[in-house]
Amino acid sequence: MALERTFSIIKPDATNRNLTGAINSLFEKNGLRIVAQKRIQMTTAQAETFYAVHSARPFFGELVEFMTSAPVVVQVLEGENAVLKHREVMGATNPSEAAEGTVRKEFALSIGENSVHGSDSLENAAIEIAQFFAGNEIVG
Ligand code: UDP
Repeated sequence: MALERTFSIIKPDATNRNLTGAINSLFEKNGLRIVAQKRIQMTTAQAETFYAVHSARPFFGELVEFMTSAPVVVQVLEGENAVLKHREVMGATNPSEAAEGTVRKEFALSIGENSVHGSDSLENAAIEIAQFFAGNEIVG
């Protein structure tokens, strides 16, 4: 087992419905520690950079519009195997395929408005964390 840090976003559909605490509670119950957190209004440039890997996909414009439509909560989560653990707690991208008890099964509205983002690898976690947090903002 390895102590890891991953990057998480509580998305606009969830902040709009006041679900930050409920989602954080699921993270904490599953052994993920919130070691940095801030509520921000993402700019279009930030969202485009963050999701650059999807820039050729048909949903890219809608995704950027959604991510900038309301505040988000960006977070660093720490725990044993945090990257995989967080992906498990989030559930499948499409909420209709998400397992019982996952964030997306409980709260997501659609494949686009799916309440949370989580890094898909340790390498991407480091890149994504650095996009939103300075080192001294993370307190483990
Ligand atoms: N997305 C979408 N339509 C799709 C697939 C993805 O709007 O058909 C959005 C959705 O918000 C998703 C994000 O794009 O969370 C990134 O997609 P990815 O496949 O990386 O899913 P994730 O890693 O978030 O589960």
